Amino acid sequence: MNRRVYREKNDGKLRRHARGGIVLTAMVIALCLSGCGQKGEETPSEIMPEETSAASFVPAETTGTPEPSAAPVVTPEASPTPAPTPEPVANGYTVVIDPGHQQHANSGQEPIGPGAEETKPKVASGTQGVSTGTPEYQLTLTVSLRLEQELKQRGYNVVMVRTVNDVDISNKERADLAARAGGDVFIRVHANGSDDPGVSGTCTICPGAENPYMEESLIRQCRDLSERIADKVSAATGFRNLGAIAMDNMSGINWCTIPVSIVEMGFMTNPAEDEAMGTPECQQQIAAGIADGIDDYFAR
Ligand SMILES: [Zn+2]
Repeated sequence: MNRRVYREKNDGKLRRHARGGIVLTAMVIALCLSGCGQKGEETPSEIMPEETSAASFVPAETTGTPEPSAAPVVTPEASPTPAPTPEPVANGYTVVIDPGHQQHANSGQEPIGPGAEETKPKVASGTQGVSTGTPEYQLTLTVSLRLEQELKQRGYNVVMVRTVNDVDISNKERADLAARAGGDVFIRVHANGSDDPGVSGTCTICPGAENPYMEESLIRQCRDLSERIADKVSAATGFRNLGAIAMDNMSGINWCTIPVSIVEMGFMTNPAEDEAMGTPECQQQIAAGIADGIDDYFAR
């Protein structure tokens, strides 16, 4: 496998992450990753977020002659003005969120990157909570919806790859969608799994320094984004920080043309972490942590 931990010259921060946790993590994420990197395939038209439906544009009253409205309405004396809710000020950035996996796996194959001979299933099934029994695709959607709200409150434009579980969208298609939607960054929300229930922690996944499918500058941006998110999510949740891990066989990364990061929130095979991630409090911490990482990235 092409897992490489970044160790570069002036990058002390990375070394910190690489410490200890990486080897363990590399073994461990294999589980989710083998599943995390793939999704179902779809026709692009179905993928577009449901947010814009042209359906509701029937003018309500175009029939009949316009009735002269009766006497002018007297202005109400005291219309209690509702407390103005401050509208978030748009910051000009678009974040595309991909809640990892979907209700039904799709074992159809697709190349892992542009021009690649190696293929992987379009959508893997993902992992499952050992204590909660929650499937990964449900947890990723729950947290992603919180992340959507969190980001909107901070002024981001947000596009969701999916808002329901029963979809069929491959990893490549999710990456395509992220670019087509005009995303500035692409956040793929996942949870991790391991055969060893003792393994725990948060990590992010980014392309390796010599990823053959991406330009060098894009690779650097992915790594930067991934490091910042791992730091912030770990800080917000108290989960162990396993750092940013480089992998070159993730279809949903390799097909991407904008900065992308896979966020492995925590291990659903670790009872304590699974139970924590099942609570709204922790889910909100994760969402806020990811948003902090994105803020940090754009403020760099
Ligand atoms: Zn996954």
